[in-house]
Amino acid sequence: MYPAAFEYHAPASVQEALGLLGKLKDDAKLLAGGHSLVPMMKLRLAQPKHLIDLRKVPGLSGIKDEAGTIVLGAMTTHWQMESSSLLKSKCPILSETASVIGDPAVRNLGTIGGSLAHADPAADQPATMIALGVEFVCQGAKGRRTVKVDDWFKGLMSTAVGEDEILVEIRVPALAAGTGGCYMKFPHPASRFAVVGVAAVVTLDKEGKCTKAGVAVTGAGTHAVRAKGVEAGLVGKKLDAATIEAAAQKAAEGVDVQADLQGSVDYKAHLCRVFAKRALTEAVKRAK
Ligand SMILES: Cc1cc2nc3c(=O)[nH]c(=O)nc-3n(C[C@H](O)[C@H](O)[C@H](O)COP(=O)(O)OP(=O)(O)OC[C@H]3O[C@@H](n4cnc5c(N)ncnc54)[C@H](O)[C@@H]3O)c2cc1C
Repeated sequence: MYPAAFEYHAPASVQEALGLLGKLKDDAKLLAGGHSLVPMMKLRLAQPKHLIDLRKVPGLSGIKDEAGTIVLGAMTTHWQMESSSLLKSKCPILSETASVIGDPAVRNLGTIGGSLAHADPAADQPATMIALGVEFVCQGAKGRRTVKVDDWFKGLMSTAVGEDEILVEIRVPALAAGTGGCYMKFPHPASRFAVVGVAAVVTLDKEGKCTKAGVAVTGAGTHAVRAKGVEAGLVGKKLDAATIEAAAQKAAEGVDVQADLQGSVDYKAHLCRVFAKRALTEAVKRAK
């Protein structure tokens, strides 16, 4: 099916793109990799009259280390993250998460900013962003503002980015020594989207006690959420198998688990617990 007719714009700067957004308002949509927006347009679930393509805007793509903080440009593709030697050495869970998205075609065109602005309930990146405690930088006509990840995901495909703003970068805090992370999912057999996915990031002190934990669940509900009950069951404890098992039992708490063609509420809640245990077990191994 073909999308409805639209006018195409290719701005050469963020300012030009913001000018178009300000002028065209609700009639316009930003285009990044197009791997979520274009399918929606073909299904007529979205019918923007104008597309503002960000691919020719310089400075929106790339991965930098700014004094320990990793800065991901919004137009950085999943493939760039998957293959980045900087991420593999400084924050491997980011490469790992990107590497399990869709297929090579999706990863070569889809972007981190597009994924996080779109906020598909089954997307992988949101869980890892929550577990890492990242910040989002949005740019509007009046300048830039920063949004903490816990204030970003608002509901089904709804985020804190304003209609007159562009998500320009994601800032990932430096990981402390003794930190390990893991993202694991039960993938949909056709699309590879997460039926349920869990990201776990734990920091252990020299005695093996957990000083910090970030755990988040995606796929099961309308949007990715922090698994606060799991985190509370880890901090201050030695993460042996029994502690992990007990904490993982809380993985579906606070998730608005949705039944769908992939499974019932009970089944998806079960997957949350199973994948929390698996991701945590691996994250602890990597932290040692
Ligand atoms: C067959 C297939 C399989 C897939 N499998 C997976 C999977 O396993 N896991 C997974 O997580 N994802 C999967 N995806 C989705 C993929 O990751 C997309 O790349 C991603 O969801 C959207 O990124 P995009 O760059 O393509 O954004 P686009 O489709 O271009 O845009 C998506 C939305 O975000 C907005 N937007 C884009 N960039 C910005 C910005 N910088 N600031 C503000 N708003 C912006 C757009 O206006 C649009 O509303 C799959 C997609 C397909 C087609």
